[in-house]
Amino acid sequence: MMRLFDAHCHLQDPRIFSKAQQIIKTTQDTGVVYFVVNGVCEQDWHSVKHMAETFPCVIPCFGLHPWYVKERSPSWFKTLREYFDSTPSAAVGEVIVWFYDQRGAWKLKR
Ligand SMILES: [Zn+2]
Repeated sequence: MMRLFDAHCHLQDPRIFSKAQQIIKTTQDTGVVYFVVNGVCEQDWHSVKHMAETFPCVIPCFGLHPWYVKERSPSWFKTLREYFDSTPSAAVGEVIVWFYDQRGAWKLKR
């Protein structure tokens, strides 16, 4: 069987979270060996971390999807750093895009 790698999924999504174990098992039966689970906002980073601790096949990624930028807390970056510090196997997942404007200021690209 060909070994596959799901490079971007959201198994922590509340709509499917309760079925994640079944989804992982069923998908592993088709040859998927690893799942890169991307947290999209501060509210779901704990679920991603928990999934990675529960399922060795889950590679946790933490990030902030542009859809959730407006909802971020003032301490979001500190919290993000804490997740990376406490989860050495984690990578950066969803990312926000910034650009440097002509006046020399960093701005969020929408
Ligand atoms: Zn995504």
